[in-house]
Amino acid sequence: MSLLNALGGAPERYTCSRARCTARARTTILWRNPAIHSEDRTKAWLACDEHLEYLDGFLRSRGFPVRHERIPDGVRAGDDGATTTEEESR
Ligand SMILES: [Zn+2]
Repeated sequence: MSLLNALGGAPERYTCSRARCTARARTTILWRNPAIHSEDRTKAWLACDEHLEYLDGFLRSRGFPVRHERIPDGVRAGDDGATTTEEESR
């Protein structure tokens, strides 16, 4: 275990995509806006357990295809830079 982990620090990449939420994300929400994104283009949001339902509903209410991937403990998410926040995606 690294010193950072021992101190309880979590990498910023794990942070929930909900505006102003700083909780650790547990799920990656993969979604696409068919109106502006091509078939192979997928956006990714990170959601903590508290906001998973909110973010999921936000996307589904717009008719977007949505897929969930659970983030395993100890795995970094979003290293490809594909993740965005809720505010950036509007
Ligand atoms: Zn959250």
